[in-house]
Amino acid sequence: MSFLDLDLDLELQQQLIETGFTEPTAIQRQAIPAILDGQDLLATAPTGSGKTLAYLLPALQHLLDQPERKGISPRALVLAPTRELASQILRVATPLCEALELVCAQVVGGVPYGNQKQLLEDGMDLLVATPGRLLELDEKGWLDLSEATYAVIDEADRMLDLGFQDPLKAVASLLPLEHQTLMFSATLESDAIVQLAGALLRPDAARVAVSEARAVAGHIEHAILRADNEAHKLALFKALISDPAIDQALVFVASRKQVEQWVAIVRELGIMCDGLHGEMNQGERTLHIKQLRRGRLKVLVATDVASRGLDLARISHVINLNLPLKADTYVHRAGRAGRDGSSGTVWSIVDTPDWPKVGRIERYLNQALRRMKLKGLEPAKPEPAPVRKAKKPKTKAKGGKKAATKAAPARKKPAAKKRSA
Ligand code: ADP
Ligand code: MG
Repeated sequence: MSFLDLDLDLELQQQLIETGFTEPTAIQRQAIPAILDGQDLLATAPTGSGKTLAYLLPALQHLLDQPERKGISPRALVLAPTRELASQILRVATPLCEALELVCAQVVGGVPYGNQKQLLEDGMDLLVATPGRLLELDEKGWLDLSEATYAVIDEADRMLDLGFQDPLKAVASLLPLEHQTLMFSATLESDAIVQLAGALLRPDAARVAVSEARAVAGHIEHAILRADNEAHKLALFKALISDPAIDQALVFVASRKQVEQWVAIVRELGIMCDGLHGEMNQGERTLHIKQLRRGRLKVLVATDVASRGLDLARISHVINLNLPLKADTYVHRAGRAGRDGSSGTVWSIVDTPDWPKVGRIERYLNQALRRMKLKGLEPAKPEPAPVRKAKKPKTKAKGGKKAATKAAPARKKPAAKKRSA
């Protein structure tokens, strides 16, 4: 199937071809026809599967189809959980909008209100926003969403993680009575998403789901290195980060403090490095991402602020210095490596407290993570036995490596392809 088979304007198709995209991805193939059909939609597809265009292309088509282009209050709205994601969506939207003589803009937190007031007064066709700031602007009386007949909630799962349930409902209440809502999520992990969909989508909303974690994991090589203690971890990290195979690396840590700590360690090695965490101001965050994108940084150390959505094309390696609590967060982190179909590597340095998470991730991926050892830095302690729920500990996993490597059956079932009730 090519983009030509989708019911999109020629102008729009032309733009896609110029971008070098010929074939829609699975989620685009499934979502676009349903959206063009006017349906509400709950769509799930893994990180890196092309969700942005899956809702932007029909958004642009929607804008082209509407006869009156007043261009003052936005006619399409995309909500993103973080400023970085909003900026990234805008980056994808901008060239397409320009080619179609449409105007797009963003309003996000962490930047002055004045400019945004002006922006809203000048008007736009497509608005990309974070929910919090959008509501603030509404309170000031600057926002008019009465013509926003096309609304997207991107990264719905992340929205819920961040507690945006009520803000999203508040934004929805600002939309005109007749509007189309599209919800995109990387996972359907929690019932909360289904509940949110129940609250925000029409009862006959379509559902599409592109499975599965493995779709992301396919071209990414995963390996774990066991660390005996902090000193061992540091030695392993220094060896890994100096690997000449690294084009650019994203290093994940658990806290702001650790970001600062590890940035200093990398810099000491003479490697260009900076950090990214949620408590940084917007200017700094943007700058560091820009520098990474332009190749001025080789390494970015980040908290999970950076695990979702950010499309940093050149990231070749992801290094986890802690493992996340939730397996799907691991998948999101891994999704930062090897974008655009190129191959990527994820190395996780795992200390004893983090070890139980390995099994969880393996079950989620339905794939064993390769154990990797560095010469001279082999772990002294044996691998802890896998933790299995609701089962008596078996005979201690001698040669525990094998035992822990064996992945249990996949836990996830594909979401039913049916209309939600
Ligand atoms: P997601 O939101 O699902 O994580 P993105 O929308 O950020 O994924 O897209 C991931 C990458 O895939 C981006 O680099 C994007 O340019 C690329 N991409 C999107 N659609 C296509 C397509 N049809 N063909 C080739 N590459 C695509
Ligand atoms: Mg996305």
